[in-house]
Amino acid sequence: MIRAESVWESVGNTPLIRIKSLSERTGCDIYGKAEFLNPGGSIKDRAAKGMIQKAEADGRLELGGVIVEGTAGNTGIGLATLAAERGYRVIITMPNNQAKEKYQMLEAIGAEVRAVPPCPFANPNHFYHQAKRIAEEMPGAVWADQFENTANAQFHYDTTGPEILQQLDGQVDVLVAASGTGGTIGGTSTYLKEHKPDTTIIVTDPEGSGTHDYIKTGAFTGEGGSVTEGIGIKRLTANFARAVVDDALRITDRQMIDTLFHVARHDGLFLGTSSALNLYGAYAMARRYQGSGKKIVTFLCDHGSRYASKVLDKDWLTEKDLHPRLLE
Ligand code: PMP
Repeated sequence: MIRAESVWESVGNTPLIRIKSLSERTGCDIYGKAEFLNPGGSIKDRAAKGMIQKAEADGRLELGGVIVEGTAGNTGIGLATLAAERGYRVIITMPNNQAKEKYQMLEAIGAEVRAVPPCPFANPNHFYHQAKRIAEEMPGAVWADQFENTANAQFHYDTTGPEILQQLDGQVDVLVAASGTGGTIGGTSTYLKEHKPDTTIIVTDPEGSGTHDYIKTGAFTGEGGSVTEGIGIKRLTANFARAVVDDALRITDRQMIDTLFHVARHDGLFLGTSSALNLYGAYAMARRYQGSGKKIVTFLCDHGSRYASKVLDKDWLTEKDLHPRLLE
């Protein structure tokens, strides 16, 4: 039984769950790290804790201080979750097209949210630049800067990587992870490559993101778009630059949504879109190694309830042509 004396302490140490339906189909062991069980409900609680810890250690953040961040939502929720207990004010800039549950959650836990129209990164009104400006103009405010602040990847190196290796008694063959800031894959891949060098590291990427092409060709190209939230980028971040990656998989929204409903119905796990993207990637790798018994690990980044207004809405599924079909 895990006992925590604070919300702060309760981040991480998540279960590693064998996904029975996909493992039986492939003759491999596919495991998902249940990051939706973190106190703020996502993997980004780890990045939030790493960045707050670093800012406190550097003397930049003190009781009553202000944290500012630009986020697709989960990092903001992670920061606000941990800030409540420690007495910080949190200001979040966020594109206005994310699932409404994330804004509602942010408000419930006391963050100040500024929703901005989505635009290309080069535009000064991009949520990233707006967060930076707010922090610069507010005395004593700290910009978390999850993309370039390597306290993010470092926290995964210090916690996520060791937890996985310990949970599998050192027997991991493949790690599959999507990338938003690159913190998860940046920290976890380096830890695994150092301690189990023959681990294969695969990045999963939705359409419209440049990460897949960057691994394949060195250029951040990529057409189209995706309904998956929190994943995909068209530039090299300091956190992703740390990652040691062997190959990349491009995954469609159709493959993602069919996986999301497959594991909901067969395994009782109703997960968020990035988790389903990750699981399809793990499944694709398992099919490549069909019957080998290889141990393939990925991340269940957050819970499907965070996207209910989208993935459970029949009109939304119709509009996106994403009514679930049988997983191929
Ligand atoms: N899944 C979700 C739902 C996210 O919001 C994010 C982060 N934006 C990730 C996965 C990716 O994590 P990272 O930033 O560590 O690459």
